[in-house]
Amino acid sequence: MLELRRAQAGYGRIQALREVSLEVGAGEIVTLIGANGAGKSTTLMTICGVVPAQAGEILFEGESLRGLSPDAIVARGIVQVPEGRRIFPQMSVLENLELGAYLRRDSAGIRRDLEHVMELFPILAERRHQPGGTLSGGEQQMLAISRALMARPKLLLLDEPSLGLAPLVIRQIFAIIRRINAEGTTVFLVEQNANQALRLAHRGYVLENGRVVLADTTEKLLGNEEVKSAYLGI
Ligand code: ATP
Repeated sequence: MLELRRAQAGYGRIQALREVSLEVGAGEIVTLIGANGAGKSTTLMTICGVVPAQAGEILFEGESLRGLSPDAIVARGIVQVPEGRRIFPQMSVLENLELGAYLRRDSAGIRRDLEHVMELFPILAERRHQPGGTLSGGEQQMLAISRALMARPKLLLLDEPSLGLAPLVIRQIFAIIRRINAEGTTVFLVEQNANQALRLAHRGYVLENGRVVLADTTEKLLGNEEVKSAYLGI
């Protein structure tokens, strides 16, 4: 579904992605793990068209995304849940969700999807009229994921959904990601929490200093001695 071929990107003179090649197949959960500053967020920003690729190729369903605007990339079916959630704190939960559907015109479908996300996260139904900013960190993450689902993504990009959350809440969020995937959405998950991410995903990539240094099934990565000592603290 998604393929990066030797993608390079950066900020001015900082080359954040030196050479990133990876693939995400339809129906998979693929994770990209790596330390702080390895280039994980930049990888997602480059896929979304927010940070332009300087070289290499980014293909989605066989077509190049290079040069497309972020809006056009959302319209193709790629939606990101950004690091730090970025919900609109003054707007109600419902208004935040409706914003996720801003490119859609099928009002019956939007209503059905609203009901669906509220069934996935019942707390959002309870708090639908509350300002987003009054939700807890975990609830805001649920809202950010739900807002992305309102765009009906084929490929959902998640940037560190576990950041700053308690272990129990992380487990809930990861269980929902598994369900979203089982219902047909392909997932590309960027995480510093390698342990949880590798237990959730089917395949994984390890990013170091803007380069993919390891690629394998998550089962093999969990047993890999380098991964264990560098990322799993074993
Ligand atoms: P984190 O887990 O901290 O988000 P990351 O793996 O997602 O780390 P990136 O945020 O992609 O890493 O950062 C990769 C490199 O690019 C780092 O050296 C970082 O300092 C730099 N960088 C990221 N964003 C910017 C920016 N807006 N301007 C300049 N440099 C940036």
